[in-house]
Amino acid sequence: MREEWHHAARTNPQKLKGEHRAILPTACAALHAVALIMLRFYFGVMGSSKSAMLLMQRYNYRVQGYSCALIKPAIDTRKGVDIVHSRIGLEGHADIVLAPDHSVREQLLWLETRKPNPLEHVFIDEAQFLTESQVVELADMSDKLEIHCYGLKTDFLGNFFPGSSALLRFADSFTELEQSLCWCGAKATMNTRVDRKGRVVKEGEQVLIDTGRKEEVITYIGLCYKHWKLGKSGLNGNT
Ligand SMILES: [Zn+2]
Repeated sequence: MREEWHHAARTNPQKLKGEHRAILPTACAALHAVALIMLRFYFGVMGSSKSAMLLMQRYNYRVQGYSCALIKPAIDTRKGVDIVHSRIGLEGHADIVLAPDHSVREQLLWLETRKPNPLEHVFIDEAQFLTESQVVELADMSDKLEIHCYGLKTDFLGNFFPGSSALLRFADSFTELEQSLCWCGAKATMNTRVDRKGRVVKEGEQVLIDTGRKEEVITYIGLCYKHWKLGKSGLNGNT
């Protein structure tokens, strides 16, 4: 059975569903890697298409018949409490809106009772807002579920978020999304908070969500390290 399963994993991942998937917890480490059951962290700065990539990947898995869950942290309510929104217009409804004191495992167990099939893939948007204990829960579940976390690596001051710090320590796989460019054309690596006049902000709380209200406009953009350090946003002549 193990040889057959090993072959199936290399040649047709879909064969891992059903009876093959049931033996995953007892598979050896080498087979674990082949089975692609992992905790994955996809990270990038603002404008690197993280949410769009997540929604497209989830769509592709759902088309293939996989049972998927979509999670977003409760902290991000810009487009509605359960909406995962991308800047290019793609949107999805989250199955779970995760509060900091929620157990991810309990939430997924609850969701699974409402699904016709056991969950196979979990997608998490804005994963930088996860707590460390939630990331540890995900790592503990990643021998049975494929977990895809999308989020920022660092905040506007260049410090880790709790969720990104934990993911960089506990995830199995890391992918940097490099689509975002600084106004100078260089790769954007630094998240930058700018005020309504386009000035770079270098102080304040780590989490300050853009509410969209005109009187308190806060925007986040990606800059290269040089222009982030110099505080040159490229907006309103700030170059
Ligand atoms: Zn630059």
